[in-house]
Amino acid sequence: MDNNTLINRDLSVLWHPCTQMKDHEWLPLIPIKRGYGVWLEDFEGHRYLDAISSWWVNLFGHTNPRITGRINEQLNTLEHVILAGFSHEPAIALAEQLVDITPSGLSRCFFADNGSSAVEVAMKMSFHYWRNRGKKDKSRFVTLANSYHGETLGALAIGDVALYKETYQPLLMEVITAPSPDCYLREDGESCAEVAQRAIEEMENILAAQADSICAVIVEPLVQCAGAMRMYDPLYLKLLRQACDHYGVHLIADEIAVGFGRTGSLFACEQADISPDFMCLSKGLTSGYLPLSATLTRDEIYQAFYDEYENLTAFLHSHSFTGNPLGCSAALATLDIFRTDDVIGANRKLARKMARCTESLKDHPHVAEVRQTGMILAIELVQDKTRRTPYPWQERRGLRVYQHGLENGVLLRPLGNVVYFMPPYVISEEEIELMARVAIEGIEKATRG
Ligand code: PMP
Repeated sequence: MDNNTLINRDLSVLWHPCTQMKDHEWLPLIPIKRGYGVWLEDFEGHRYLDAISSWWVNLFGHTNPRITGRINEQLNTLEHVILAGFSHEPAIALAEQLVDITPSGLSRCFFADNGSSAVEVAMKMSFHYWRNRGKKDKSRFVTLANSYHGETLGALAIGDVALYKETYQPLLMEVITAPSPDCYLREDGESCAEVAQRAIEEMENILAAQADSICAVIVEPLVQCAGAMRMYDPLYLKLLRQACDHYGVHLIADEIAVGFGRTGSLFACEQADISPDFMCLSKGLTSGYLPLSATLTRDEIYQAFYDEYENLTAFLHSHSFTGNPLGCSAALATLDIFRTDDVIGANRKLARKMARCTESLKDHPHVAEVRQTGMILAIELVQDKTRRTPYPWQERRGLRVYQHGLENGVLLRPLGNVVYFMPPYVISEEEIELMARVAIEGIEKATRG
């Protein structure tokens, strides 16, 4: 088997996600034969360092023996069983452990099989909670500008990235959009905490005027990942928690991308010392091995559904693969690694290394900002540094960095003109040096002329 044969077969039958398929007339598709550690290898022996953890899912490297071993064991025992009316040990153990490690108060775990579904579960549960409590006017959601929560229609509606959303607008429910505390938007001399303060005032105005019709506010704690890795101060989460409590509105923390150590703590909410009413988890939950997601919530919310059947208050949401035992066993192996190894401590060192390797970019004439939260580092490319004028999107500068990366053995996948690193935690310091060197060369090339 070689690359070209597979590319031809692929392009005659597959429709790839998030892709203008015509690009593949000139942009090579890369069939991967195997993965190990941070590396992906194609059918001609070319290696690519997976600097983006395969869409932010991989935590401990590809084909990690500890996770593979656990899934193999489970595979010989029980591959899947319906989770309604039936149960199994991996789902029970995983729910116990998630309740244990997530912020206090989250005591119930509802499984689904991807991130968007976890968000939809939280939205439906919040709405349904208020109905069950007799608050039938509460039906709207508040989201932050530049947020992203998935692609299914409900999750898409509650996000704010125009590129993914605009076309489908007629299909989407209306949401209320509050300003983002995104620190890139700071004015001269303003701190990130001050931007957060400014943004929360607007949020409070919205809640003060409309709380009676609002179910919940949803946020991506600390980093708006799909929104070009924009970052904000933990103070915002603290103030938002207070505002939601004050106005009687739920807080949904979408930690699908930022959970499991990405931001420097196990969960990003910990940095603001808050507990949400709903927490959505996926991606790193299984170390990127299998599709699984979880929505955690509080006992008080669970109790609002707990009633005689005839009262029709139950949460009748289901997915065929809810709580799949193989996914749960991958997640249990993931949590074992967090328990036995000092992952967060080791990541601190890796994060410092990423910062050192990109320090030189701060003075680059086309780099507006190098920002970092834990194991996520992002480089914002601009046409004009002083005015922060973005490059016209049509120029696809980020794509040039992507191409340079592939030619030099690193999988970078810029979000527009933002180049970022979100590597698996098993990356070595030498591999960080390589990743940064190739990115810097790519940025040089992409911003020339
Ligand atoms: N929420 C956030 C914050 C995400 O980053 C993503 C995926 N990029 C999702 C939700 C959707 O998850 P999935 O792609 O598994 O549906």
